[in-house]
Amino acid sequence: MEEKKLFLPIGRNLSYSFPNHPFSYERVEKTFEILESKKILERKNIIMEKIEILPEDILYFFHEKEHINFVKKMSEEGEGYLDFGDTPVYKGVFEDALAVVSASLIATEKVWKNEAECAFNIIGGLHHAFKNRSAGFCVFNDVCVVISYLLEKFKVKRILYVDIDAHHGDGVFYSFYSNPKVWIADIHQINIFPGTGFEWETGEGEAEGTKLNILVDAGAGDKELLKGMKKIVEFGEMAKPEIILMQVGADGIRGDPLTQLKYSLEGHLKAVKIIYQLAKNLCNGKFVAFGGGGYNINNVSNAWTNLIDFLSSQQSDGSP
Ligand SMILES: [Zn+2]
Repeated sequence: MEEKKLFLPIGRNLSYSFPNHPFSYERVEKTFEILESKKILERKNIIMEKIEILPEDILYFFHEKEHINFVKKMSEEGEGYLDFGDTPVYKGVFEDALAVVSASLIATEKVWKNEAECAFNIIGGLHHAFKNRSAGFCVFNDVCVVISYLLEKFKVKRILYVDIDAHHGDGVFYSFYSNPKVWIADIHQINIFPGTGFEWETGEGEAEGTKLNILVDAGAGDKELLKGMKKIVEFGEMAKPEIILMQVGADGIRGDPLTQLKYSLEGHLKAVKIIYQLAKNLCNGKFVAFGGGGYNINNVSNAWTNLIDFLSSQQSDGSP
């Protein structure tokens, strides 16, 4: 069997966090602590590379100039909020956010060019930002930049984006709502931030049928998650993607301070295994994961560790 190679971008992207805020640096520290104690990072098939920050031009694949300049100016001043009170400013947030986008782009390019089988940017998946605004802890939307880049630079014809974060990935969902090349499946808790993502929203025009929202109630657990994953697999098979991108937000795991879902760590891992296996079946295993939310430090650090362990293990079997 061919050896799995997992690309893990590190460097300034990991500094993206906000002081005294749920999206804290502690999430990263704790993850690396566990990874080190389990000696997972010593595996030879993990390509852990310190990435360069790419020129800000990459942001233009998706974001508007006014927004980029606004973030840059606020970042120099180092005070206030980028939105209505969720996403604070600190000195250097522009460079950190650009580093996240850079890491996601470099990771995706490695997978697209077969230099790695899969990749995971643990600080990526900033799915609430829109082309002209920051929102919900997300300064720039790395996933949207990656999708736009794949479409424009590599002329990719079909992309599948799966989002299991407890919150609806509105920035990604609505930015490609009428694009038939971008298939999106998003399972999320009903009635929490950002309050979007309904079942009747299935894409418009030529893109009708390329979008899938699955809503779960407060208190939903693995049963609901895995039922949703079954629907997503059927949807993904119709999409016939050339690459699968997945936002693996861990804020649906029981005990998260910002949501009321009750997935287990095992259920969360299983959902990722299912989509990884789908990538194996449909697109030669081309799979890129983005960290997303997760505000219970123990949950998120263990969930990320589980994923890195799985994505770098020799056993490719993603069957339940
Ligand atoms: Zn979330």
